[in-house]
Amino acid sequence: MAASEFRVQATLGLDDAADERWDVMVIGAGPAGALAARQSALLGARVLLVDRAAFPRAKVCGCCINGAAMEVLAQVGLGDLLRQCQARELRTVQLASRGRFARIRLSQGVSLSRDRFDAALILAAVEAGAEFLDQTPAVIGATQGEARGVHLKRLDAGSTATAKSIIVAGGLGCRVFEEAAAEQRQTARASRVGAGTILDVAPAAYEAGTIYMACHQHGYVGLVRLEDDRLDIATALDADAIKQHDGIPGLVQHILTEACLPIAAPLDQLKWHGTGRLTQRRQHVAADRCFFVGDAAGYVEPFTGEGMAWALASGRSVAPIVVGLARDNLAADAVRAWTETHRRLIIRRARLCRCVSRLLRHPSWVSITIRLLAIAPALANPVVRSLNVSFETDRPLDAATERLP
Ligand SMILES: Cc1cc2nc3c(=O)[nH]c(=O)nc-3n(C[C@H](O)[C@H](O)[C@H](O)COP(=O)(O)OP(=O)(O)OC[C@H]3O[C@@H](n4cnc5c(N)ncnc54)[C@H](O)[C@@H]3O)c2cc1C
Repeated sequence: MAASEFRVQATLGLDDAADERWDVMVIGAGPAGALAARQSALLGARVLLVDRAAFPRAKVCGCCINGAAMEVLAQVGLGDLLRQCQARELRTVQLASRGRFARIRLSQGVSLSRDRFDAALILAAVEAGAEFLDQTPAVIGATQGEARGVHLKRLDAGSTATAKSIIVAGGLGCRVFEEAAAEQRQTARASRVGAGTILDVAPAAYEAGTIYMACHQHGYVGLVRLEDDRLDIATALDADAIKQHDGIPGLVQHILTEACLPIAAPLDQLKWHGTGRLTQRRQHVAADRCFFVGDAAGYVEPFTGEGMAWALASGRSVAPIVVGLARDNLAADAVRAWTETHRRLIIRRARLCRCVSRLLRHPSWVSITIRLLAIAPALANPVVRSLNVSFETDRPLDAATERLP
């Protein structure tokens, strides 16, 4: 499938964007931003969704969408989107370490390329009435009365638009403020870095419907067949070990070989994309008419494959709060509401994710876990269930669904 099939065009020009005073501006059109824009538009807000990239854009991701993410999509009326995108059902996870394997059954989940998924979500936002501007890095400026200025740069032109509320969905480590001091975030010292690539022709040993996870003391590598049969490879690695193996492909090949999941393809000839430090979070997820969602608010590690679920849930739940701010202008109340909602949505899930990532740093614990799961795979059921559990069990404070006039 040619990437150009998923090209998403801007719906307005830079000058038109600057002429309008937006109820809601969303910075970043990944799953968090696109869904936040759609839900805000459905509530009657004038919404501008901007992204610095042209879509499709490269995104390091394991491309596995879990049951919790699927449920968020169903709740907002996009339950059919994954089927329309021909997402591939996932049935098992195979954990591998030093030649030992355990197969765990999955009851939910699909794999889908980010090219296709992100394009479908942006189109859903546009269909709901949001405007979209690509190739436009945004920088948040000063408060101007009951709004904030946002500097937009598109190709060689620049302009300043204003919005009553701003959803920051710029992803991991994004920089969106004029002043560096406003970018406060905590980064874990032992944080790994992410990397990924896609293999056009998947080795036959990697079956469709299975997530392969090679675990190693210096990181892990996840492999899955996408909807079009390509093989997505995504990894979290120790930065020092990357240097010792002369780069990401060398360390990935080493981890796969040790786990007895080797790939014959020359990994160093593929185009790899990297991320910054993975484990980080914003000190404040809301302040001064800005509301952080998805990875921009915080991220742990990808092993449990929850990032998109967190992104979608936070994108969905922030919408009534920012639309309420545009209507009532109660900025302090909106900040409090999002801080509390975000805590309820994400904290418990992030805790589990942190526990798993700690366990993965101990080769002996990994080895014992895989041996146990090989004998009794059902031992993994509670963890699998809690990763898939609906966000509705910790219902956010998003009851205010009144439309703007
Ligand atoms: C190795 C790895 C594997 C992963 N595997 C999985 C998995 O299998 N399943 C899963 O659910 N999650 C997985 N994740 C996590 C998942 O990729 C993220 O959690 C998810 O993409 C977060 O979505 P988002 O919308 O917050 O940000 P993103 O998808 O990162 O989107 C952010 C967007 O903001 C734009 N942007 C940034 N700054 C600006 C700016 N100043 N102006 C305008 N635009 C801007 C960027 O161009 C980008 O398009 C993985 C992550 C990694 C690193």
